[in-house]
Amino acid sequence: MDQEQREQLRQQMQQQLTELKERIAQLEEATQPISPDNAYGRLSRMDAINNKSVNESALRTARAKQQKLEKALTKVDEPDFGHCTLCGRPIQAKRLMFLPESTRCVQCADR
Ligand SMILES: [Zn+2]
Repeated sequence: MDQEQREQLRQQMQQQLTELKERIAQLEEATQPISPDNAYGRLSRMDAINNKSVNESALRTARAKQQKLEKALTKVDEPDFGHCTLCGRPIQAKRLMFLPESTRCVQCADR
């Protein structure tokens, strides 16, 4: 991975983090405790509770991704960044662009 690719990747990660933080803020809003009085218009309280659990699970996923991305960002300048932690081969640049927090190559990802 050359310097230019690292720089591109860093920007990609920062971009994703920005979007993720917005999403997390929205989800935090959506997972506020549901008040007992029905303030949901056409939405029944049951629907509100269902939506809340969907949003809570999305929030957990988003937070986990944020942690991985932030960790990856601190490592992007290390010489072995972008190498598979399992087989040591370089992870495809395309894969890193799509999933910058990847620590394994495509071949090892499922192991
Ligand atoms: Zn590998």
